[in-house]
Amino acid sequence: MERLSWNEYFMAQSELLALRSTCTRLAVGATIVRDKRIIAGGYNGSIAGGVHCMDEGCYVIDHHCVRTIHAEMNAILQCAKFGVATASADIYVTHFPCLQCCKAIVQAGIKTVYYEHDYKNHPYAIELFEQAKVHVEKVEKQQVIFDNNKTEKKLFVETLLSQLKDSREDMEGIEELEKQAEELFSIIPTETSSV
Ligand SMILES: [Zn+2]
Ligand SMILES: [Zn+2]
Repeated sequence: MERLSWNEYFMAQSELLALRSTCTRLAVGATIVRDKRIIAGGYNGSIAGGVHCMDEGCYVIDHHCVRTIHAEMNAILQCAKFGVATASADIYVTHFPCLQCCKAIVQAGIKTVYYEHDYKNHPYAIELFEQAKVHVEKVEKQQVIFDNNKTEKKLFVETLLSQLKDSREDMEGIEELEKQAEELFSIIPTETSSV
C-alpha cells in the first residue's frame, strides 16, 4: 500500500468536510493547515441554528445561494472564534475559492491555497492571489479515498449481473462474478428469473 502524501491527506479532510455541506448547489470543504497540522476546517452551510438549504431549498439571489457561509470563510471564522493564528498557514479547498473567500484568505495571511476542482476561477481572484504572493496550486487526486459514486456503481454491477444471469451464459462464471461483487458492494444476490 502506498503511503498517503500530505496533500492527499489534507485534501481528503476537505472532501470529508464537504460531505457535511447542507447546501444542495455545491458541497465544498476547506481545511486550514499550519506546520502540517490541521488547525481548522469548514464546509458550506447555514449559520449555526439556521435552517438548511437541503430542508428549505436554497435562498438564491443573483444566481447565488445567500443562506450559506462558504467553507473557507467558516474555517477562517473558526480560527477567529477560538483565537488561532492563520498567518502563513495553508488552506486545502475542494473547489477554487470565490472572490469573497479569496479576499478573506489573503487578508487572513494564508500563504498557500491548494485546490482540487476548478470552479469558475475568477480572473480577479487569480490576480489578487498573485498580488498578495499567495501560492495557488491545483492538487490532482492520486488515490481514491472516498468513493462518491458507490451507489451508482453498485446499481450498475447489479444490473449487469442480472442481465448476464438472464442470458444464462456460463452460470458458474457468473456466480463467481456475483460472489466478487457481493464482497465489493455487499450486494444481495438477484433471483435467477424462471424460464
Ligand atoms: Zn443553498
Ligand atoms: Zn467562497
